[in-house]
Amino acid sequence: MALTGLQIYKLLPQTNCKECGFPTCLAFAMKLAQKGTELEKCPYVSEDAKTALDAASAPPIKLVTVGSGERAFEIGNETVLFRHEKTFYHQPGLVVRVKSDDPQLAEKAASAAAYGLERVGMQLRLDGLAVQQSGGDAAAYAAAVAAARAAAPGLPIILATGDAAAADAALAGGAAAEKPLLWGADAGNWQAMAGVAKKHACPLVISAEGGDLGGLVDLSENVRGAGVEDLVLDPGTASLNADLSAFTQLRRLALKKGTRALGLPIIADAGAPTWQQELVRATQAIAKYAGIVVLDHAEPGALYSLLTLRQNIYTDPQKPIQVDPKMYEVGNVTAESPLLITTNFSLTYFSVSGEVEGSGVPAWLLVADCDGQSVLTAWAAGKLDAEKIAKSVKDSGIGNKLTHKKLVIPGHVAGLSGEVEEELPGWQIMVGPRDAVDIPSYLKTVWPAA
Ligand code: SF4
Repeated sequence: MALTGLQIYKLLPQTNCKECGFPTCLAFAMKLAQKGTELEKCPYVSEDAKTALDAASAPPIKLVTVGSGERAFEIGNETVLFRHEKTFYHQPGLVVRVKSDDPQLAEKAASAAAYGLERVGMQLRLDGLAVQQSGGDAAAYAAAVAAARAAAPGLPIILATGDAAAADAALAGGAAAEKPLLWGADAGNWQAMAGVAKKHACPLVISAEGGDLGGLVDLSENVRGAGVEDLVLDPGTASLNADLSAFTQLRRLALKKGTRALGLPIIADAGAPTWQQELVRATQAIAKYAGIVVLDHAEPGALYSLLTLRQNIYTDPQKPIQVDPKMYEVGNVTAESPLLITTNFSLTYFSVSGEVEGSGVPAWLLVADCDGQSVLTAWAAGKLDAEKIAKSVKDSGIGNKLTHKKLVIPGHVAGLSGEVEEELPGWQIMVGPRDAVDIPSYLKTVWPAA
């Protein structure tokens, strides 16, 4: 639990020497409680106080890194229960599971590594591959892991096995350098699995059965006592209800009760008999509160939905995704090409530019600086008005490049057309469609007739 300023003050030397840059120890303590300064600024803190303060200032949910190199991903370090309270920081890794004896293991691994899409200017992709031991001995498992790594170089791996010898063999076979996540420690084998995790400095999943959170606390304390700190929780639930209940309790216990043993990211096994059932489980897990979501089906349509959902949830609601406000040329524009204006909210820009591109009619697309808000939101907030539109047009210098003086404004702000005409003397203001999807027909029918 975070300490209050007064609790921190009691741990300080209380000499008011000012070396930290604050007039008193109390002022320093108050600032530290607000996370506005660092403990290192006070050179006189005792080791005992440092330990107590370090523990209190540790994030309520530990940050754990899976993998190494460019595709490594971080999970945990979340601070709120609800995204609207602040934001969520570390999006859950989406991981595809393959069985070690699957004849198509290499093919599936390569496919997971290559899968990706672009949405609102961002590259979305899968984060890892879980190799589940299925039959075979330790050597066979190590060979399967090596094959997966060769087929998907750089893609973080989860070693899904409760056989410590198999995990050790896979790690000794070269996987250790890539810091894979070990997934298979439970109440029966935790000593052996913790030993392997410690030996190879890898993070470790600890698993309970049927949502037994008390069992997870015991495991967490035991494994941390054995020297492995980078842990991930698997509550071992197997239904939507049980997932939701366990994941929510874990998050609340970590954030609201300061239960350090459970202040760890969660792995969600979303596997289900059909891809549709899996999609529902994974959707819930992304919203509440998985750090990793494991999928069996890798159905492309489902992956697209999950990546999109994850992107939407793990963006800061206070900082809309924006594009640069400037003139964009969509297609091979000429002086006769239509001129449209929109706002710099990414989703708006990519919707409009995508429809213009799809229409086959090259167009100038002027993007006004509206603090990353969509057309209606910007209009309602007073960030998209006649003055802003006119200024954007004038600043762009587009008037000198066109043989016409026609500007298409979004249909949602049709009411501004008269005012814009007043602000832009000599220009004809045309009202475009309300929805981007109607832009192609507008450019092919209304624009040529104007
Ligand atoms: Fe107090 Fe330490 Fe700051 Fe000195 S440096 S005033 S002892 S908090």
